[in-house]
Amino acid sequence: MKWSFKIGSILGIPVNLHITFILLLILIYFVGGSIIGVGGLAGVVFVTLVFASVVFHELSHSIVAKHFGINVLNITLLPIGGVARMAETPNKPIQEVLIAIAGPAASFLLAFLLWFIADIFGSGVTIADFSVKGGLLAELAAVNLVLGLFNLVPAFPMDGGRVLRGALALYLSPYKATKIAVGIGQGFAIFMFFWGFFSGNIFMILIALFVYLGAEAEERQMGLVVALGGVKANSAMISDVETLTPSQTVGDAAEHFCRSFQGDFPVLDDRRLVGLVTREAIVETLHKKGPFTLISDAMVRDFPTANEQTPVTDILQKMQATGSKAIPIMNGAELKGLITLEQIGRYSMLCSGYSCEFMGPSKA
Ligand SMILES: [Zn+2]
Repeated sequence: MKWSFKIGSILGIPVNLHITFILLLILIYFVGGSIIGVGGLAGVVFVTLVFASVVFHELSHSIVAKHFGINVLNITLLPIGGVARMAETPNKPIQEVLIAIAGPAASFLLAFLLWFIADIFGSGVTIADFSVKGGLLAELAAVNLVLGLFNLVPAFPMDGGRVLRGALALYLSPYKATKIAVGIGQGFAIFMFFWGFFSGNIFMILIALFVYLGAEAEERQMGLVVALGGVKANSAMISDVETLTPSQTVGDAAEHFCRSFQGDFPVLDDRRLVGLVTREAIVETLHKKGPFTLISDAMVRDFPTANEQTPVTDILQKMQATGSKAIPIMNGAELKGLITLEQIGRYSMLCSGYSCEFMGPSKA
């Protein structure tokens, strides 16, 4: 995710902090008293512990995902909560249900443990209507309880939405299941928006927007997955791909760029793939270093590739995971084509998620 940096890793999973999270801590330090009832250093410590609880929640999603062989790329902390980013989506609906339910289950467990410990220390815990009267441990117990409950709400991108989608997908096609789950999620978001609006709760309005947009993104993603379902790299790639050599210049690349639809170029040295020049690199190098810069100074040498039989949905996931917008398609050491994000867009534009079934394997 843009604007986030790594603060450490747990069980081999990098934990990233989004820059806005730092802003949240600064905000809490100075005006925490009027937002969450406690400011200054105490407020910062409290918010940090709350987010440690969020990490615990995301980590349990990740552990179950890893159990099913799904690679967890990282856990990112945002001011509104955490996200565990996974390299692929679960194959079976039941896996999605179990991965999703693990988070709230962990939060409830942590709430119970904190409550238990607080009770041992005799802080006289009472959690009435979620307002807290029992010291830090009890406060954290309440936060974890709310975190678990809130995430069970059946709306994307909350865990409850995934549980719902997974459960529906046991009986319906993935696309239909997603459609229904998205509809319920957005209905819920609209309800929450008005509730927040009339009760003057800005935080709730923000969450409503977050939920609405999250549901929309999920539907778009699913539409794409359905449209591209079963399509292999060799039927969606640019096969007539233009290439460059390391000794050509960025000026040459710019010329190619203008003469064709292609914007990213594989770099071949004696038929061997040695690099990739992206459109961003062409534009940037052209303006900063001039047209006579060698391609070998503008290309990247470390980039993902795929083969002709790789499903396009996997390629899309690879792009999202690595941030590369063009992936060379190889047959052994030989370059066969290029798949760009734009090309995938063009391909999926042909079908809208409803009408693609005539294209074959996407029938669910
Ligand atoms: Zn969760």
